Amino acid sequence: MKNLIKKLTETYSPSGREEKLRDTILEELKGFIDGYEVDKIGNLIVWKKGKKEGKILLDAHMDEIGILATYIDEKGFIRIEPIGGISPYNLLGTSISFPSIEGFVGVEGETTEEYAKNIKNLDFDKIFVDIGAKSKEEAEKLVPPGTFGVYSASFKDLGNRIVSKAMDDRVGCAIIIEVFKRANPIYDLYGTFSIQEEVGLVGASVVAFNIKPNIAIAIDVTAHSDTPKGPKRMSLELGKGPAIKIKDSASISDRRIVEKLRAIAENNNIPYQIEVLLRGGTDAAVLQRTAEGIVAGTLSIPTRYVHTPHEMVDINDVENAVKLLKILVENENSLL
Ligand SMILES: [Zn+2]
Repeated sequence: MKNLIKKLTETYSPSGREEKLRDTILEELKGFIDGYEVDKIGNLIVWKKGKKEGKILLDAHMDEIGILATYIDEKGFIRIEPIGGISPYNLLGTSISFPSIEGFVGVEGETTEEYAKNIKNLDFDKIFVDIGAKSKEEAEKLVPPGTFGVYSASFKDLGNRIVSKAMDDRVGCAIIIEVFKRANPIYDLYGTFSIQEEVGLVGASVVAFNIKPNIAIAIDVTAHSDTPKGPKRMSLELGKGPAIKIKDSASISDRRIVEKLRAIAENNNIPYQIEVLLRGGTDAAVLQRTAEGIVAGTLSIPTRYVHTPHEMVDINDVENAVKLLKILVENENSLL
């Protein structure tokens, strides 16, 4: 499964430019699905037929946070704008992958004092990207304004812990792919790989409209509290199991889904944690508001350093999430 996560995280897929990842996911699922569709705005919907009437939907988002080139000065330095929740501080000392070249982040400052002040109050007005170009013309050929970029950071295998710039939410995509590969669903199983979650849950707002599943579960990363001075009011640790979400700042999981997931975990000795996320949300928030309303919840993977170039998860939490969802879709009582 590590290889699958590596492959997915290293595929270029910033919000709004998810085509390559869509192709990679489809390629991975070849032979494990009964059909697929790409909807009008680019969401990928796959399905596997069950023996009984009813539909379960698992959703993960394909996009990752990134930046957009906005302006190039006479010397070829590129100004940028964030796509999704990316902090300028996380760009300090990093590089950015554009489709055709890598760029390196610099900070303005004519004096030591000014540089220090800029670092202290860093914002996107004070940083620029250097692709080694000597002129505006040279830079414009490679990274014209409107070009999308993502953190440039490779996948790292630390044993139980794995690290990548895009665990959010390739780890969710990988979990759904594995469920499709391993499970024989009783009811029709739908996998939706949605676009543009990071800029406002765009794809998931419409993806389930025509499916109208009995239940929908978003799979996404969540925060952690197990690093020095981590958030005091939360209890999420890496390696203690996937997290069944009660609430985040965008939605409250349907009580029946929480109870169902919890019962499966307990009856099958699968470790799990209960999640109340202080800030953030998932596709579940808009799945709930689709059509006449869909019963939805979220299963999360505790993640350290979310939205930085080194998001860290524990592979056992990922494996246990697959186990839990496989049992759910193979269970006669999984519908409400
Ligand atoms: Zn995110």
